[in-house]
Amino acid sequence: MSKGITSRTDDYSEWYLDLVKRADLAENSAVRGCMVIKPYGYSIWEKMQRALDDKFKETGHVNAYFPLFIPKSYLSKEASHVEGFAKECAVVTHYRLKNAPDGSGVIVDPEAKLEEELIVRPTSETVIWSTYKNWVQSYRDLPLLINQWANVVRWEMRTRLFLRTAEFLWQEGHTAHATSEEAIAEAEQMLEVYAKFAEEWLALPVIRGVKTPNERFAGAVETYCIEAMMQDGKALQAGTSHFLGQNFAKAFDVQFLGKDNKLDYVWGTSWGVSTRLMGALIMAHSDDQGLVLPPKLAPIQVVIVPIFRNDEQLNAIYDRLEPIIKDLKSRGISVKFDDSTNEKPGWKFAEYELRGVPVRMAIGARDLENGTTELARRDTKEKQIVPIEGVADTIQALLEQIQTNIYQKALKFQEENTFKVDTWAEFQEKIETGGFLLAHWDETSETEEQIKEATKATIRCIPLDAPEEEGTCVFSGKPSKRRVIFARAY
Ligand code: AMP
Repeated sequence: MSKGITSRTDDYSEWYLDLVKRADLAENSAVRGCMVIKPYGYSIWEKMQRALDDKFKETGHVNAYFPLFIPKSYLSKEASHVEGFAKECAVVTHYRLKNAPDGSGVIVDPEAKLEEELIVRPTSETVIWSTYKNWVQSYRDLPLLINQWANVVRWEMRTRLFLRTAEFLWQEGHTAHATSEEAIAEAEQMLEVYAKFAEEWLALPVIRGVKTPNERFAGAVETYCIEAMMQDGKALQAGTSHFLGQNFAKAFDVQFLGKDNKLDYVWGTSWGVSTRLMGALIMAHSDDQGLVLPPKLAPIQVVIVPIFRNDEQLNAIYDRLEPIIKDLKSRGISVKFDDSTNEKPGWKFAEYELRGVPVRMAIGARDLENGTTELARRDTKEKQIVPIEGVADTIQALLEQIQTNIYQKALKFQEENTFKVDTWAEFQEKIETGGFLLAHWDETSETEEQIKEATKATIRCIPLDAPEEEGTCVFSGKPSKRRVIFARAY
């Protein structure tokens, strides 16, 4: 145990919650399922946002903003959409409070009842497609490639900080196209954007796949997803991209005049990632000492802890390091020089470990005389003494190594915990120890549900690269053409 953090082997779930709190990322609020994201946590989210936003712009998208409230009638226009979301909707019925006649506080003013009740958006397809109706007349108005950064509300019953909250922050892309092919290409492109972001920024290996009809987004024709494995072997859906067909265009009567002068409904996509990615980041890499952050998303990439007895020593250290700090900053590396005297260096070391700062540089008066400094890397906890001369180069290279190492470690874990399973007995046994089970499935919802009932495992996805392979369903024994991934999931 370190700094009040439960160890992963003792209780993985407690470990996660301890970490979120102790590393100052987020806390619960008065409203169940809603969280306060604290500055340190938010700065990681901001880095994610920036990187993703750049990728969206590079692929031709622009940002816009649509309202938080959706008229109830909009939600019901697409039948399967409303069915999927109805159980999780927060509804606004009144617009005013008044003092209670008995002086006991405020009550809802019954006279201020809304004519039409409003839904707090659980996702924005309906309000956006009702707007697109006015924006699209001809093929010249297409494609619409729009993203919004927003909060949404889904009244989840079982919540956990970042991973599943009632209100969460996310981005949602909503695009409209003239052809089915173009919309499918868009949905696939955005899945790849997410997958690359997960791998290159979060250092998180992911499986690209499609959901089964059971797990599909309500209102979609196809749901593409990326699935990641956490350190306890459970799966986490890290991002989704939906091909909506013409479902929302039909529901909101969005038609366009094609080049052939014929009217047709518009084809759509939507895609989103949320603050759940913060949970993925924490769960995938961190250890019993605290966070392990991939350098690309770490708010502080290098912390310098000077070890000194008096101002004279501190000044000498600072004078030597000032040009190095400047050099690091000019390379875009974020550096903190922690010369505070409130805490001892040992305490600071543990604190920055807890916060997942990838590189720590410690330097004292004797190091200065020797022209050396100690670098410690957070991921492996290895320390090395290096010359001060050229240390900026050393640090830059080290940050890159850490980014790669964290990814490789997670990939190795994922590979070592992915198993081909061919019998039901083996399936039931293996699922208890966690991991991804590659098994044959007969493609029926009944079998999928029965397996879930028996083992709590769901089909995470049908991997896009799953090779065709003749086999028999692990549960029903019926023929199957490929293996799918089963796992217990967050
Ligand atoms: P969806 O609109 O259901 O496809 O979800 C879009 C993204 O939001 C996915 O990446 C989900 O993993 C994520 N997400 C869904 N529900 C929640 C929740 N309650 N809390 C945090 N993230 C969520």
